[in-house]
Amino acid sequence: MTQDFETRVIAPGSTIGIMGNGQLGRMAAFCAAELGYKVHVFGPGADSPTEQVCAKATIADYSDLDALRAFANDVDVVTFEFENVPHDSVKLLSDLVPVRPGWKCLHLSQNRLREKTFCNDHGIGTAPFEAVRSLADLEAAVAKLGRPSVLKTTEMGYDGKGQVKITDDTDLASAWAEMKDAEAILEGFISFEREISVIVARGVTGDTACFCPVENVHTNHVLDVTVAPAEIAQSLSKKAEDIAIKLVTAMEFVGLLAVEMFVTTDGDILVNEVAPRPHNSGHWTIDACVTSQFEQFIRAVCGLPLGDPAHHSNARMKNLLGDDIDGWQAILTEPNAKLHLYGKAEAKPGRKMGHVTWVLPKED
Ligand code: AMP
Repeated sequence: MTQDFETRVIAPGSTIGIMGNGQLGRMAAFCAAELGYKVHVFGPGADSPTEQVCAKATIADYSDLDALRAFANDVDVVTFEFENVPHDSVKLLSDLVPVRPGWKCLHLSQNRLREKTFCNDHGIGTAPFEAVRSLADLEAAVAKLGRPSVLKTTEMGYDGKGQVKITDDTDLASAWAEMKDAEAILEGFISFEREISVIVARGVTGDTACFCPVENVHTNHVLDVTVAPAEIAQSLSKKAEDIAIKLVTAMEFVGLLAVEMFVTTDGDILVNEVAPRPHNSGHWTIDACVTSQFEQFIRAVCGLPLGDPAHHSNARMKNLLGDDIDGWQAILTEPNAKLHLYGKAEAKPGRKMGHVTWVLPKED
């Protein structure tokens, strides 16, 4: 990659290429348009949430090299709203056009073992963990980390998919069978008081800006509610932001990184996982911050000055999953509620159809 690719400013009027075509791309495309950019989205499946709102779409598989080459020739910078794009595809794009964040950051965040090892190497705490590539590995790891513990696939797992809790009753052979021979990680079970996340941006010149830590409440492993800001001590809030800044800086990351963390019952903060893109726990920023996570994402990726991440209001965000979307009319009658729908045709159970943010007074 040339130095120019690393620091080039992509001016308004240019075309931003987004890999991935879900709701994150859709909301990013709105902000790109506000700043005068065009968006060309790349991903499989027609009539996607992003395609519906952007100038151009390539509907193709992430490993379709011809389609990728044509896409790279049409855009001025490439970014991701979906991080599990095959390495060869990212490499091909990187030779043709600035890609932010770069392949090393994607590679790191695509795998839980690499992610946790990187954190620990930089003095950032995580759950204790062991690599598991066989039943014998699992038996040895459970002997070391004890029960309860959590077995997860190292790659492609999200929203609790590819995860098994190992309790006193769990048969290890069946737990290992659930990994379907994929590489796995066993994590010690963290006794946490709450789950929080920090979303941090880093620009091409290394400047950083953090949104305040928020609390995330999960139901069935899927984010249900985000409370902003998290009601935690100032010292913990500062510690969480310091961890996020340390991580983006160490990764030499350009773009937006979401860092999910546990606040443990003994008052420590441990990193659970990172996502190199806008994050569900940052949706509240659209309605309660001077600069939303999506605008910040566009600014960082295009090499623009980062915006002010301060929140002018507190907020509570709730995901609308599946049939929850049927409540849209009632939500529209609430004075402090902002409804966001993603344009998805079919409300399958558990599918993220939209979200609502209640904008609340800020108590200083
Ligand atoms: P993940 O896919 O890693 O984000 O995990 C999904 C959810 O499972 C987290 O948000 C936690 O609620 C829970 N979880 C994951 N890992 C652990 C762990 N090591 N200890 C306790 N709970 C966990």
